[in-house]
Amino acid sequence: MFDTGWDAGLDDAQLSAVVHGDGPLVILAGAGTGKTRTLTARVASLLDRGVPAERVLLLTFTRRAADEMVSRAARLCTQPDAGQRLAGGTFHAVAHAVIGRHTEALGLPPAVSVLDRADATDVMDLLRHDHGLDGTDRRFPRAATLVDIYSRAVNTGVPARALIKTDFGWVQPHVDAVMELFRAYVARKRDRGLLDFDDLLLAWRSLLADPVVGPQIAGRWDHVLVDEYQDVNATQVDIVHALRPGGHGLTVVGDDAQAIYGFRGSDHAHLRSLVQELPEVTVVRLERNFRSHQRLLDLANVVRPGAEGEHRITLHSDRREGRPARLVRCHDAPAEARIIVDSVLEAHQKGRRLREQAVLMRAAAHSDLLEVELTARGVPFVKYGGLKFLEAAHVKDFVAAVRLLDNPRDEVAWYRLLRLHDGIGPARARSLLGSLADPELSADLDRHAEAVAAAPAMSRVALAASLSTLADARSRNRIGERARGCLELLRPLLTARYRDWSARLGDLERLVGAADQSPDLAAFVAELTLDPPASTSDLAGPPSQDDDYLVLSTVHSAKGLEWPVVHVLHLVDGSFPSDMALGTPEGVEEEARLFYVALTRAADELNLYAPLRMPHHRHARDDRHSMAPLSRFLDDAALDRVEVVDLTPPRPGADPAGAAARGTRVALPDLADLWA
Ligand code: ATP
Ligand code: MG
Repeated sequence: MFDTGWDAGLDDAQLSAVVHGDGPLVILAGAGTGKTRTLTARVASLLDRGVPAERVLLLTFTRRAADEMVSRAARLCTQPDAGQRLAGGTFHAVAHAVIGRHTEALGLPPAVSVLDRADATDVMDLLRHDHGLDGTDRRFPRAATLVDIYSRAVNTGVPARALIKTDFGWVQPHVDAVMELFRAYVARKRDRGLLDFDDLLLAWRSLLADPVVGPQIAGRWDHVLVDEYQDVNATQVDIVHALRPGGHGLTVVGDDAQAIYGFRGSDHAHLRSLVQELPEVTVVRLERNFRSHQRLLDLANVVRPGAEGEHRITLHSDRREGRPARLVRCHDAPAEARIIVDSVLEAHQKGRRLREQAVLMRAAAHSDLLEVELTARGVPFVKYGGLKFLEAAHVKDFVAAVRLLDNPRDEVAWYRLLRLHDGIGPARARSLLGSLADPELSADLDRHAEAVAAAPAMSRVALAASLSTLADARSRNRIGERARGCLELLRPLLTARYRDWSARLGDLERLVGAADQSPDLAAFVAELTLDPPASTSDLAGPPSQDDDYLVLSTVHSAKGLEWPVVHVLHLVDGSFPSDMALGTPEGVEEEARLFYVALTRAADELNLYAPLRMPHHRHARDDRHSMAPLSRFLDDAALDRVEVVDLTPPRPGADPAGAAARGTRVALPDLADLWA
């Protein structure tokens, strides 16, 4: 934590970045070298130099990171209310806010809704029906595939036609119909004020490129600071250049060895190109790591992927003492889960709080067995990444209702709400959209009556009630009251639909509470969509110091974070690296960067786990377990820097498949020794 002023405790290299003037600044640095802390201190120092807080924009990768940096910077500086005036957020959230002020210039209706992937798929689905492309030909791509192709084309800039030819050969016979659908998709979204994630960035970039509006938008900020720049995509690069032409007032921070969003069209080469493109750029390199001790960094340094030679970043720490990383070999995944819980509890007994430990995994599903084991043994945990709160159906229902308050043309939201009524299926819902989501007529009560009359008899009463509750909510002024109206609308529908309705309504109560704290309801749900909290507990802000729980997280969601003790599971080829990435060299490189991110989260202790056998492994025949090769990232150089601990049970005689293959539990060695 920080002591007092923004300069407290910074080393010389960090300080040089913090006090740097207004010229372009790029901080190229390894993991845990204080990039984020330096960026935060720089914001505070700019404010103390007299830059008004509202002229500073901080762009980060998650809302949580932005909130944290803004509040720290505000505490470190002497400007009053800096926290309220500093602009901070993700690219997408800031884009949404900017677009909201310029809908007219963009030819959009005054209220816009943000579509997540599932919503985008719904729009595509509606269009497939409109174009008569459903049901007739079973080989016609499904809506989800169409959205994939569309988004890939947008993100890579490769025309969809070419993309289909190279990557989706089986779609080729339908290519003309697909192109027609894509054109309709673009037109329909524009018509209804619907923006998917890509659209947000594209629209912001277009606004910035406009000779009149562009300079107004860019002119709102004198300083733009970007954390985690290695994960930007081409559109974000253009936005950054347009915000600070020539790089004046631009500060960018990144580590190309930690670029982990290539699958979304990001390219870490942007970080180094930026250095080449800005003529007067100052580059600061940070290599001193403040997070981990040297024994862990020795491993991280041999694993670190990317630049060689003079560009290579080699981390070093003043903390010389510490236990080297451990590689635990165990029999199979159930044994791995038990051993991890043993280890977590052992550390807990020695005084480590659960929250000082994290279990990281390549894919969210990898912790299934561990979650069962933790629950059985009463260890509280939260999970980051994987299924997000927003993906829960009732939360999406709520978001849909809120979206309709401001944007009655939002047909995806209508489509979702209509289908919550008994007796209204997809086909009927589509036919009712004509009256309800008419782009010309917004919130017209006569049209509501028309929709009710057209609904099946059994749904009329409920539908009429929903529509009048919605109209009532719309007429309210206070944000909390409007949000509560949406909850009232959903209450009877959810109660009829779900057995666990009371837990679900509890979630929505919490959402209403959180919405009530926000200045703008539409922005609140847009934020929810753009950066969904991992769980309802997340809504209430950081958990109190009294709560103690273990963190389970995907490596992606662990980016930028740190824990004293870190466990990484499933270090076998096919899991980490993931089977799905092994097809291309770029895929494997991205996995290597993910592995580097995982290793560098640990401050004091790092435990890696590799079961000998994995179910449903690539090489497995039928349902039988098969030998799982150790992760390729643990090569000889890496193995030289870890302590290998063998917890596999002794082989029972001539039966190499072992007893576990027949379902018997194998007694494990006494672990107390090991963790002493
Ligand atoms: P990552 O690459 O994981 O995003 P980072 O480079 O952003 O890491 P920070 O998260 O800013 O690094 O810092 C890592 C840890 O080191 C934090 O606990 C931070 O408080 C600490 N730290 C950074 N600079 C110093 C310093 N000068 N003195 C003491 N501790 C520091
Ligand atoms: Mg960081």
